Amino acid sequence: MNAYLYLETWNKWGRIVSYGLVAIAAIILVFHFLSLLSKRDFKKRYDFINRYEIDSLWYASVVLLFAIGIYINTLVQEGELVWVLVRLFVTVMMALIVGVIISNILKFYYPFYVEKRLKRLRFTPRLSPKTGKPMKLLSETEEDVYLDEGMQAEENVFSVDYDVWIDEETGYTKIEKYSGHLIALQCPECNYQTLKVVKEEILESPTENEEGELMKFYKCDYCGYKERKAFRIARLKSRGTEPSMA
Ligand SMILES: [Zn+2]
Repeated sequence: MNAYLYLETWNKWGRIVSYGLVAIAAIILVFHFLSLLSKRDFKKRYDFINRYEIDSLWYASVVLLFAIGIYINTLVQEGELVWVLVRLFVTVMMALIVGVIISNILKFYYPFYVEKRLKRLRFTPRLSPKTGKPMKLLSETEEDVYLDEGMQAEENVFSVDYDVWIDEETGYTKIEKYSGHLIALQCPECNYQTLKVVKEEILESPTENEEGELMKFYKCDYCGYKERKAFRIARLKSRGTEPSMA
């Protein structure tokens, strides 16, 4: 008798808790996508997706898993305590397995999709706030004029990319900074989009006469594949030799 009463109370409250958890998971997702949509600037959207999207999806999934697990355990109307506990144990195990699967999907498959969206966001023409017309993205060689020396050095040496958008009518420019540490490349070993720069080391500093050398160390988050590549660092521009009008 006592056990039934216990089960009844559990079923009632378990359901309420599981509905509450579903609501929380929905709030996490809605909040994430509304925040994303409220950002009109493409670069801000890019950064937001990069920082929060996978985390938000993960938290929502975990909360949802708890909700489903608890709900399933409220469906049986009668039974002995032993079986209630066995069901609970099986549920926890199943939830763990599903959790691991979701975690792997988010870590190793989802980045393909994220990367595609990020690429689109990065290269969608920016609109000029002056004229409202699309601006033009300068090529690596064209953009140097608009980057100061610090930015150029950073771009030459570290995994940093500056994009320069120019409004050709008014000369207005918008400069955006992208970090190579966040951008994942395709791993040659496992083909997942999980190869990232983990360390950068200057082997030889550039001088005014000689190029320098930089080593970038890559590691795959998925299969652990490691790779390093040497890059040249451009010669330093000597000061005071700007072409002067004679
Ligand atoms: Zn790999």
